Amino acid sequence: MINFRGSNLGLCPRKLAYEGGSFLNVTQVPTKQRLLDGWWHEVEVKGRLCDMDLHFESGLSSQANLVLNVNGVQILGHIDGIVCAFSPIDGIPLGRYILEVKSMGPGGWFNLKRNGLINSHRHHYDQLQGYLGGSLVSMSPITMEEFENELQRDVILGMLWALAAHYPEAPYDYLAGLPTKGLLVAKDKDSGELAYEVVERDPINLAVVKRRVINSIGADLRGELPSRLWDNPKNWECKNCPFRVQCWEGIVDEQPSRTLDDPDLLLFARMYAEGKAFEKRGEALMEDARPMLESVDGDYTLGPVKVSRRTQKAGKYEVTREEKEITTIRVVES
Ligand code: SF4
Repeated sequence: MINFRGSNLGLCPRKLAYEGGSFLNVTQVPTKQRLLDGWWHEVEVKGRLCDMDLHFESGLSSQANLVLNVNGVQILGHIDGIVCAFSPIDGIPLGRYILEVKSMGPGGWFNLKRNGLINSHRHHYDQLQGYLGGSLVSMSPITMEEFENELQRDVILGMLWALAAHYPEAPYDYLAGLPTKGLLVAKDKDSGELAYEVVERDPINLAVVKRRVINSIGADLRGELPSRLWDNPKNWECKNCPFRVQCWEGIVDEQPSRTLDDPDLLLFARMYAEGKAFEKRGEALMEDARPMLESVDGDYTLGPVKVSRRTQKAGKYEVTREEKEITTIRVVES
């Protein structure tokens, strides 16, 4: 039996091995001791969902524990909650869901709204597929070991228990099985706005997730670390990974950035640099000209430029006013 954080399912396989395998005793770089992040946003969102009449079967005072079976290896996890919409609520259709709450910056949030979960946050999608492929094994009180420090534990747990007092959940021994759909609720940390996406089971994606786990476990059983997902640590996942020091120790220093002296490549490097400067200058010129061209009403063509206004709706999502009113200026080929 392996304990893992479901949020790692969609991520680097090496991290999975560090977290759940025999490499667990490695040094971890402590993450920032934060109160008003992750957990806090999750609880705040849960409170708003309760107020919207989304019923929690678990996730306030209790947690649902599941098992994902990967080629005979049982992997344990627990989920943010099991919720039920008895009627359509806001952007949430009627149904029973595995809840996953995420908080993100406005860029990531807008990306999610515009492109959908699978195209914008594949690792969250994979995480939910892992949950949807698992089976519910037990319900238990939310454990205190989850928390990073006492202040966080007291505040977060207090908020959760207060919610549970107002919105009673199912008793701990109530086991209705896992829902067959996932509900991702994403909070924009700047505006507080929520976005919802229902995630259906995707067997092909689940197979990919399981393959990743198998690779990780297989390497672990051989006493090896699985390959890294990344070529270097300058990416968001490695920067936030508690195993980054252990993982990259010595490797990065052995491959410092070099200065090349290759006349054949130099030409292309200059071409690129010139293009980059041109790109920036071009954007600045266009932005300077745009307000004057847009000040004229209606669509029109003027010399090499065509100015057209159109309203567009981004798929099924309700988009902001700014996004709906898009003015495009096209250069007409002469
Ligand atoms: S530091 Fe990066 S490559 Fe290493 S385990 Fe963490 S996420 Fe994977």
